[in-house]
Amino acid sequence: MDIKSNYKYLLSDLSSLKGVGIKTSQLLQRKKINSIFDILWKLPKSYTDRSLSSKIKDLKIDEIQTITIIPQKYSFPRVRNLPNRVLCKDETGEIDCIFFNSYEGYIKKILPIGKEVTISGKVKYFRNKYQLTNPKYISENSSIIKQKHNNYSLTEGISEKVYNKIIFQIIENLPKIDEWHSKDILKKFNNISWNESIKKLHKPENIGKFKENFYQRLAFDEIFSTFLVNSEIRKKIKKIKKIKKNFNTKKQNEIISKLDFSLTKDQSKTLNEINKDLCSERKMFRLLQGDVGSGKTIVSLLSAFNTINSGFQVAVMAPTEILARQHFLLAKKIFPEYIKIEILSGKSTYKDKKNISDKLIGKKIDIVFGTHALFQKKVEFKKLGLIIIDEQHKFGVSQRKKLSDKAGKDCDVLLMTATPIPRTLTMTIYGDMDLSIIREKPNIRKPIKTYSKLENKIDDVIRFIKKEINLGNQIFWVCPLIEESKKVDHSSAVKKYEYLKKLFPNQVSLLHGKTTIDQKEIILNKFLKNDFKILVSTTIIEVGIDFPNANVIVIENANKFGLSQLHQLRGRVGRGNKDSSCILMFKSNLSDNAKRRINILKNSNDGFKISEEDMKLRGFGDILGFKQSGIKNFKLADPIHNHNLFILAEKEIKRIENEKENISKFKPLIKLYDRADIINDIA
Ligand code: ADP
Ligand code: MG
Repeated sequence: MDIKSNYKYLLSDLSSLKGVGIKTSQLLQRKKINSIFDILWKLPKSYTDRSLSSKIKDLKIDEIQTITIIPQKYSFPRVRNLPNRVLCKDETGEIDCIFFNSYEGYIKKILPIGKEVTISGKVKYFRNKYQLTNPKYISENSSIIKQKHNNYSLTEGISEKVYNKIIFQIIENLPKIDEWHSKDILKKFNNISWNESIKKLHKPENIGKFKENFYQRLAFDEIFSTFLVNSEIRKKIKKIKKIKKNFNTKKQNEIISKLDFSLTKDQSKTLNEINKDLCSERKMFRLLQGDVGSGKTIVSLLSAFNTINSGFQVAVMAPTEILARQHFLLAKKIFPEYIKIEILSGKSTYKDKKNISDKLIGKKIDIVFGTHALFQKKVEFKKLGLIIIDEQHKFGVSQRKKLSDKAGKDCDVLLMTATPIPRTLTMTIYGDMDLSIIREKPNIRKPIKTYSKLENKIDDVIRFIKKEINLGNQIFWVCPLIEESKKVDHSSAVKKYEYLKKLFPNQVSLLHGKTTIDQKEIILNKFLKNDFKILVSTTIIEVGIDFPNANVIVIENANKFGLSQLHQLRGRVGRGNKDSSCILMFKSNLSDNAKRRINILKNSNDGFKISEEDMKLRGFGDILGFKQSGIKNFKLADPIHNHNLFILAEKEIKRIENEKENISKFKPLIKLYDRADIINDIA
């Protein structure tokens, strides 16, 4: 079969195109355009209308115009810096075409004497004569010139003309692809095919027509393919049969009754959901999502406890040693003595590590805490039944899938994230997992008072924290990186540290990207023990750690952060029972939009709500967690403007799941939309 009639043509690399040599394809690759399909999403930004032609006598100076002329005479001075020149005319007048740096041979070819040629460009008037300098749009075939020409934001080194040619070629050869959508879905887009949609997408007059069927259909394809892959992963994991866990919740309830708080409704609900999964014969792959401070840890530890009581071992992974230790200590505190608990630290001696490894394989340890190293290194378990991963929002879909595969079939997986995201993004980012959400926070928590301050009012802030320190409280002081791209740029944090050290001698410490991991742990532990009062840092501190004695966070240059991120940072305080404050500092007066955003933050402490509002005001690309999620940004789809398409895709996926529809017809869709790495394991 001719490859051009197959979707695979779209996946072939660019060098298979006419006029694309090594140099052009390298330039494109630099922009991550590797295949013909990739180039389809490089959309025109505007167009230049060259369709109307004029006569020389009617030419307008300094405007782009199209004329049909006959070349009369060449003048090639062969003197450096003097341009080559071709005198041309029509029945109404004369015009000079001027060429700098063009070979005579080329000029003779494009402007042959006596032949009719159509030419387009910006017209000048010089010494009583019209002029066109370095015209690029020249052809004996007038219809090629007389049309609307797309303007692309170009890759350096590739001319508009070449680009237009490439796109034109691709569009001409677009393979007919069998429709993948159901009739009902297609109807929503007035039955427009993928093929037709792509053609329309590149029509100059369709630029910016986001509401039209062609655009909506293509956006839907993107969303749907993402959801579909997620759904397939979920289904695949669900198919795995495992040994059921078998436990009595009486023991769990005993622990709960001894806590110095009672579980919130959502904590109980999510715990039940997890327990149900543990007891089922299907492998669990579940995400526990809840805002900072919503109390996920206790829920996960209780499910760990139940797993242990079923005769299995549990591994709990945290992003940092200090957080692993905090979880470890909590387990020691609440679990009955017969549960054997260990922590595997990066700093443990070789002997200790070996000892723990031996005990794990000998099933002399029930639950082990540690960092990711726990899973990466060759730690083996006798009977691992549950892996819990805390604060995992930096994992993408394929990493999660790998993790689940590696865990083994009898091992359930519980991931936790403190990143609330808008509902439309949930299926996009977490659609491969079952979801348990803690929405309501423990009500003993006092709301964090949030203030905004101009930087030149820093004296007020200093007075405020002096007062807090006198009351025995501790302060976080966050300085953003000055340039996002330079991850090591921490000059603002260093400066602030020097400044505060003078005001609060022996009470300030500094953490930044260059602090070693060991040093960081030492400093954080000292802060935890209240050995010093102010911790100045860039944003490197993870959000999960409980510092009950810290009740003020100052965030400098706060407009550098998204609302969700500010909310997360703010969540570092307010974990104890003190009144706590968050002070947002700004370099200059806030714009109306910024004020609106900050007000959302001041008036709400609900991460889900904040992320929705943040997305509405800033677009989804900036939502915390999305960029790191491993899912590339959509090219057309936008969760704000295409909200209904996300809902539609969710519905359609549910239908396909419920009706157990064969998904093989979606293969081209999935392959094209570049999720092949994942789907390979599935198909
Ligand atoms: P996160 O969801 O951010 O991981 P944690 O599990 O660290 O939150 O809980 C934050 C704090 O809230 C802890 O000090 C924990 O003891 C406390 N906590 C958890 N659940 C409750 C509850 N139901 N009532 C009161 N305090 C709670
Ligand atoms: Mg946590």
